[in-house]
Amino acid sequence: MNETRTTCPYCGVGCGVIASVAADGAVAVRGDPEHPANRGRLCSKGTALGDTLDPEPRLLHPEVDGERVGWDAALDTIASGIRAAIAQHGPESVAFYVSGQLLTEDYYVANKLMKGFLGSANIDTNSRLCMASAVAGHKRAFGADAVPGCYEDIERAKLVVLVGSNAAWCHPVLYQRLVQAKQDHPELRVVLIDPRRTATTEIADLHLSIRPGADAILFNGLLVHLAAHDETHALFVNAHTEGLDAALAAARASSPDIERVARDCGLEPEQVEAFFDLFARTERVVTLFSQGVNQTSSGTDKVNAIINCHLLTGRIGRPGMGPFSLTGQPNAMGGREVGGLANQLAAHFELDDPEQRAVVQDFWKAPAIAARAGPKAVEMFRAVEQGRIKVLWIMATNPAVSLPDAGQVQRALEKCELVIVSDCVRHTDTTRYAHVLLPAAAWGEKDGTVTNSERRLSRQRAFLPPAGEARPDWWIVAEVAKRLGYGAAFDHPNAAAIFREHAALSGVANDGARAFDISGLATLSDDGYAELAPIQWPVTAGQPQGTLRLFGDGAFFTPSGRANFVAITPRPPTHVTDTQYPLALNTGRTRDHWHTLTRTGYSARLSAHSIEPYVEMHPDDARVLGVNDGALARISSRWGKSSARVRLSESQRPGSVFAPMHWSDAFTSAGCIDAVVNPVTDPISGEPEFKHTPVRVEPLQPAWYGFLLSRRKLTPFGRHSGATARDGGSTGNAGAISIESRNPENILNDVIPASASQFPLHRGDCPIQFPLPQGECPIQSPPPQGEGEGGGGVKREIDSDTYWSVSRGPNLWRYELAGNDLPQDWATTARALLCAPDEKVEWIEYFDKAARRYRAARLANGKLESCIFVESSPVLPNRDWLAGLFALDSLDTPTRTGLLAGIPPKGSRDTGRQVCACFDVGETAIIEAIHSGCASAADIGARLKAGTNCGSCVPEIKILLAAVTQTKKIA
Ligand code: SF4
Repeated sequence: MNETRTTCPYCGVGCGVIASVAADGAVAVRGDPEHPANRGRLCSKGTALGDTLDPEPRLLHPEVDGERVGWDAALDTIASGIRAAIAQHGPESVAFYVSGQLLTEDYYVANKLMKGFLGSANIDTNSRLCMASAVAGHKRAFGADAVPGCYEDIERAKLVVLVGSNAAWCHPVLYQRLVQAKQDHPELRVVLIDPRRTATTEIADLHLSIRPGADAILFNGLLVHLAAHDETHALFVNAHTEGLDAALAAARASSPDIERVARDCGLEPEQVEAFFDLFARTERVVTLFSQGVNQTSSGTDKVNAIINCHLLTGRIGRPGMGPFSLTGQPNAMGGREVGGLANQLAAHFELDDPEQRAVVQDFWKAPAIAARAGPKAVEMFRAVEQGRIKVLWIMATNPAVSLPDAGQVQRALEKCELVIVSDCVRHTDTTRYAHVLLPAAAWGEKDGTVTNSERRLSRQRAFLPPAGEARPDWWIVAEVAKRLGYGAAFDHPNAAAIFREHAALSGVANDGARAFDISGLATLSDDGYAELAPIQWPVTAGQPQGTLRLFGDGAFFTPSGRANFVAITPRPPTHVTDTQYPLALNTGRTRDHWHTLTRTGYSARLSAHSIEPYVEMHPDDARVLGVNDGALARISSRWGKSSARVRLSESQRPGSVFAPMHWSDAFTSAGCIDAVVNPVTDPISGEPEFKHTPVRVEPLQPAWYGFLLSRRKLTPFGRHSGATARDGGSTGNAGAISIESRNPENILNDVIPASASQFPLHRGDCPIQFPLPQGECPIQSPPPQGEGEGGGGVKREIDSDTYWSVSRGPNLWRYELAGNDLPQDWATTARALLCAPDEKVEWIEYFDKAARRYRAARLANGKLESCIFVESSPVLPNRDWLAGLFALDSLDTPTRTGLLAGIPPKGSRDTGRQVCACFDVGETAIIEAIHSGCASAADIGARLKAGTNCGSCVPEIKILLAAVTQTKKIA
């Protein structure tokens, strides 16, 4: 078995992974015990990496206008499109939108082509969406985008403050290091500052459920408190900083005392005082901040409000202390190193400094150099819609889903004259708009470096051949550059050569002038690059082993060499809630998914935890709005609408709702929450305000709810029918829930009276006509696995007035459904949905007119192939036992008897919903373990292993423990 050391492609923790490929091609992964970031640990996503190498969704060959072409034709099309746009409209008419998923070498080449050869700074990255505020805050305070500390500091701290971070779900391995540190050092204190009570609250000694957006008020208050209580590190402040007086004056204006801070933050004065006192009396403090700080319209100010407190106390650059930005993406920092943001130049050179621009131009031997910053992500897509950008090349990202005001992004893509998309996935919400599609090498196939949140470079190494005709991103960009006449500058034979050039540039005219310097690696041989061990920058001749911490000597990268205090006047979120949109929407991640599901959505293990889009809200808000747990709701803002399943939770702060960012039109009919999010950005960093959009939540009351389990994927659903926006497919919610597009009054009128005794309703009974003529088979049935697309399928479409979401399960695809339109005849409709014509199948069904209930199952050779359950309410049988039947070769008589009742026969077991993704442990086993004596999460871990790997499910295990214990007490 071949083993390869590589790096996880998900979050900014940057865990080391050992991938093994068996003789039959099966890939297994385990944590790399030698990687300093994780020391062998992996979270649920990292553990399931092998599941996400599914070839089914891959883009395998280049396409132009929907037709398969060879690489030369695709690359020629791009080069001539770029050349024509520049000739007619100038270099500003071409833009690249790239990604923190790219490797540093890919990023370097793309940035070099745009800024040095096309001559504009029209390149920005989706990292703008996660950490641009941290970058801007670092530059204002330190004069450089540099994270001062390292992960080890978390273990050496006495107080860890987490601000706007659900690390338990979003940076799980780092969170586990914190959990371990607290176990090893019980005196370690943890404070969590987050409006929501999240899984991370589990470890917090103090949770401040702060009013959304009030973080700068709190940290200004802390600065005032520290100064008033003589916690200033006078030696450090006097020798190494400037601007304290102005910062203190601003802090005193906004946050004069604890009472005012508590009032404005929506906290109790005792809570604020407890936090301030803890911070004041603890020398070793690490403040970890993440998207809750960054993704706001005053994110940069919040970052500086935090840094101010560390500067005042001199708690920076020493073991166990410092402000620490947790990066979202695996290579967000690598992108920053090469200048992947529109306002940066490569290697920490300054774009607005003519001398520094000249140095880079000279190094690249480039014909031009961008002289001013390009548009940041949100602005870039506005420029596309306005027609100022004619050619847009999108690499390794899905902006049609992930940018705020996603409807605007889709309009922009539709209008753009030439959209090029390099991706490893064929059908995304963005590839629909592509004129040119380029198959990029995926994780496991590509070779390069990434940099994690602690400035640590690690190698991603290839261990699989590229799928189809896929090529590395750097190769693709370089081939276009060659066709544009820049061959000499882009003639890199491999990723190692690009890395050497990147490293050499970092050392040019540096000598300590710029934080980023890896010139110590500039002469690595190909073998040296292949074997490169994880190392933290700077890496120079003087520091060949890398650098654990920065700023310990009090030297900063500002012109004066001193760190800047920044005077902060806190600002509320740009758009405030009002009577029309009374709730504050906060968006973020779920436990087991990554970005827009293009990878994790293909893993049954990772899909089990959250099977569809949801909106979490406080029961008090739900009561007022008439929204029920488990029902469907519409979330709307001034920018757009989305639909999701309601989850009621006391963890939500009243007045706020939370929705995950992951779902796209590829996985659901109307779940893209970024269609709702306001496109407001921080004026300095350009980072969008994903954490605060005023919204309204209303109940949806479809006439029927259902679910469908099928061994075959019933594609296409909705927009991903193979038709693209370019060849006539609608860009709206084709095939999506039409409940979505109708006003609530009509929906209420459409609900069947509870007394209705006839089910299904016949045409004419229902105010909405079922759109399909009887007998027409409405879902496209794909060929069995292994056959090519389009072979032998029957054209099918789910009706256009239907809510659907799809998730992968073991041996099956699972569809959650609801609709306003009632079919003329459920029996005919269900057969049409699930059976191909002339197919020999065994069909069993159950029909209860009075209860308005329909259930059916299709078996082939005794094996369950699919089943559908329909009710008039969202209360439906548990899917988990039914899903488990797809693993059986045949169903015995008791199982068949229980099948349509949805009830397991005596003696068989319903695993219940999955709790632990790492070891696939369901709720039933955990409840049984509790009943049989397990009294703690540790007991359950010892018995079932649940919670013993990444630990992200431990909070859920504890909730089950509490619930069962409570039930026992009542009994
Ligand atoms: S914490 Fe999980 S997702 Fe993040 S890098 Fe490590 S294994 Fe990957």
